[in-house]
Amino acid sequence: TSWETRLRSSAQIRRANGISVLVTGAAGFIGTHVSIALKTRGDGVVGVDNFDDYYALSLKETRRELLEFHGVFIVDGDINDRGLLDILFDTIAFTHVMHLAAQVGVQYAVENPYAYVHSNIASMVTLLERCKSADPQPAIVWASSGSVYGVKSKNKIPFSESDRVDRPASIYASTKRTGEEITQTYNRFYGLSITGLRFFTVYGPWGRPDMAYFSFIRNILQGKPITMYRANHTNSARDFIYIDDVVKGCVASLDTSGKSVGLGNGSGPYRIYNLGSASPVTVPTLVSILEENLRMKATTNVAEMSENGDSLFAQANISLAEKELGYKPTTDLETGLKEFVKWYLWYYGKPFVQNRKV
Ligand code: NAD
Repeated sequence: TSWETRLRSSAQIRRANGISVLVTGAAGFIGTHVSIALKTRGDGVVGVDNFDDYYALSLKETRRELLEFHGVFIVDGDINDRGLLDILFDTIAFTHVMHLAAQVGVQYAVENPYAYVHSNIASMVTLLERCKSADPQPAIVWASSGSVYGVKSKNKIPFSESDRVDRPASIYASTKRTGEEITQTYNRFYGLSITGLRFFTVYGPWGRPDMAYFSFIRNILQGKPITMYRANHTNSARDFIYIDDVVKGCVASLDTSGKSVGLGNGSGPYRIYNLGSASPVTVPTLVSILEENLRMKATTNVAEMSENGDSLFAQANISLAEKELGYKPTTDLETGLKEFVKWYLWYYGKPFVQNRKV
């Protein structure tokens, strides 16, 4: 096919600095930012994404344009397709795999559990199998989730990597936890170098429309009420982490994991790191920052918290990532949300701005 020919002759990958990374889920929110950061510093980057329609495809297509503008090679395909992986790995000796593809979202799993089995479990095994037989074996960095810690009470926070994680709060979280166990097994038996990153609530420009902060701004601009869960009013708080800080953590993980590239002898490392801000914020605080930025008032509805859902409290203990990755978040919520609002108004254009009551 034509993309195969293009891939083979792609000077941008051959001219790379010795690092070539396969980024899965490259047209996703985090994948776009990570791919561009790697490409910008001189790595060879091939992105693969199946452009699923879980949320607005137009947003993924626009991210694709942005990626291609930056010289990232994008392949449209599903990572559960072994034939596709064979073509990619036979053409390029990837030194690293940044595995970010997943079926995301918590509520969607109630109606669509198999989408999570497909993308978060079956596809991951297909990818690990291909990495296992690659020579040299690439180091793998992949996205787990802070949701593996489950719903916890305030006295159990912050969450540390050594905490028990035996009660995931959703089907989504269980597939992420399963991914951790599967990757650990591949590490133990085949020596694959694995780094699992437990992202907390990542936000920023090019973000995901299914996430709460995104729907909050949409509702405020359209004069629609925001639903806040009762617990949010009193005592719950979440760990929001700005995309640029997450990207730095991903790149540092990749560089750390790369030190073990080519071991292939059963002795590759297995690591798990929390990537959060360690500074939890309540939902009402988040809403008031959005209000200030938009110079508009939100109206709110109060609902009971659903059983199957997100953690009430989430706060990452990030000392392990600080120590081993040199990870240090630097963007506070005010600054990060200002960037997000700026992007949102630019991306969705004038109609919303004209409705603004300043
Ligand atoms: P996203 O949905 O924007 O990106 C995921 C991308 O993967 C999508 O573009 C999707 O089309 C693609 N994809 C899904 N299944 C695929 C498959 N089988 N083959 C190829 N491509 C496939 O989500 P995101 O927020 O960028 O998340 C990236 C990763 O980080 C995910 O693994 C997610 O679970 C994890 N994570 C994200 C957050 C967050 O706050 N955004 C928090 C914790 C963990």
